[in-house]
Amino acid sequence: MISTLVSFDTVSSNSNLALIEYVREYLAQLGVDSSLVYNEDKTKANLYAIVGPKVEGGVVLSGHTDVVPVAGQPWDSNPFEVIEKDGRLYGRGTADMKGFDAIVLSQVPAMLQADLKRPIIIALSYDEETGCVGAPFMIDEIVKHVPKPSAVIVGEPTNMKVVSAHKGINVFKTTVTGLEGHSSQIDQGVSAVMTAAKLINFLDGQLEHYRANAYPDSGFEPPFTTVHVGMVEGGTAPNIIARECSFSWDVRDMPWDTLSDVTDRFEAYCEELRTKMKLLNPRCNIETHVIASAPPLKPEDDGEAELLCRSITGLNATSVVPYGTEAGQFQGAGFSTIVCGPGNIEQAHKANEFIELAEVEKAVTFMGKLIDHLTK
Ligand SMILES: [Zn+2]
Repeated sequence: MISTLVSFDTVSSNSNLALIEYVREYLAQLGVDSSLVYNEDKTKANLYAIVGPKVEGGVVLSGHTDVVPVAGQPWDSNPFEVIEKDGRLYGRGTADMKGFDAIVLSQVPAMLQADLKRPIIIALSYDEETGCVGAPFMIDEIVKHVPKPSAVIVGEPTNMKVVSAHKGINVFKTTVTGLEGHSSQIDQGVSAVMTAAKLINFLDGQLEHYRANAYPDSGFEPPFTTVHVGMVEGGTAPNIIARECSFSWDVRDMPWDTLSDVTDRFEAYCEELRTKMKLLNPRCNIETHVIASAPPLKPEDDGEAELLCRSITGLNATSVVPYGTEAGQFQGAGFSTIVCGPGNIEQAHKANEFIELAEVEKAVTFMGKLIDHLTK
């Protein structure tokens, strides 16, 4: 199953429909109905399916179907063909996270044979790697059409550790429109580049604010919300006052911080600069668009998902991870949610991505215990 899922080139820029169609057909042959939730132009879809009785108290097993690009990476083998070597399975998505998806799907016959009292809900999303874009549409449908589950397990690679918190990821693009002119006539124009520089400097100040208001005992590394500008584009020549400049930035917010604090402060500063610019020319502007936004996962007090995973794995402790997942979105919809899946995030997104066979076995054992738990 891992080989089959990896063989579909579902890099986020591509359609995932061939994979989804394969899964739908596989489940149909086992007598399990699936529901698809498409994107706007119907080039991609989420899939969810209820295995077992349609009653409350089920467990959602959530995975994404897209993978990060392989272009420019020095792979030693075809990334879309799984190769087994030295106790490892190599291929794009083996760790992040078609390995988990495949293990869940391969256990459907076992789920059907067991006398499940509560269901397992399989939830496969698209466009996770581009900022958790696809899952919210599926979560809306699950809220509407599935009897309320008691727990959600997002199977991102944690080496089967129970992860109860992660940061959010929010990506923005800000575009400054100034007024063109000769750079010798500095007061006849408004430089979009110079204005953008002020805004970028402001964001750097926000990073320092969060660094000074860290959560040293949180387990996060670094233990504070980060603000970062990753791309800048603007201007046409050294002697032209730049008409346009845009920059892309992200905020990775800690579960205990409030995202709107930083975006409100930024917008207030934009408004201050905007007012001054518009005095010179009303066409001048500063606009910010949200490119992606996935909330953090907050630790729950004795959350059902955490208790379930701890009892299955026998682990007493929970941990945190620095990367974002769809878990915060499920939690935001009112579900007790945890991240727990096979493989190591260290191997994700890199050339020669792999999952240890021992991790696969751990996950299969986990599924067996989960199935057993749901028969009681
Ligand atoms: Zn992932």
